[in-house]
Amino acid sequence: MDAISVATTAYSGLKVAGQIASGLRDIDVLMKSAEYKMQIIELVDRIADSKMAVSEVQEALVEKDREIRRLSELLSQRESVVYALFAYYRKKANGKPVGEPYCAPCFEVRNNLVHLTRCSKGIHQAQCPECKATFPELTTILSP
Ligand SMILES: [Zn+2]
Repeated sequence: MDAISVATTAYSGLKVAGQIASGLRDIDVLMKSAEYKMQIIELVDRIADSKMAVSEVQEALVEKDREIRRLSELLSQRESVVYALFAYYRKKANGKPVGEPYCAPCFEVRNNLVHLTRCSKGIHQAQCPECKATFPELTTILSP
């Protein structure tokens, strides 16, 4: 059973316990004693607090799962490219670069794969359309 299911089960159990504790409040025999009455009120309060805490744990677990998925995707993306000739390229099965170059600063800073475009003026041959970084050359690596 995964952590989210465990938290959901705990929340359901606390909900039922809260209903039972609330039901005990309605039993006249018990409620005639001030001490029982105070204990039941405290029990109901503690169950409500626990339900809230478990609910927060559920939300945190969902957020952690989302973050793990996002990081796994980033790791997979990082493993799919290779640095060469001042840029990143798709990595072939043999580990060699292939295809059009991606902007190195954009990938290294923001994990963003942006293809470089050819510059028509100036001494630079390539520019990133996202960060505007320029590069001395734009090399497309063809697959043999
Ligand atoms: Zn860039």
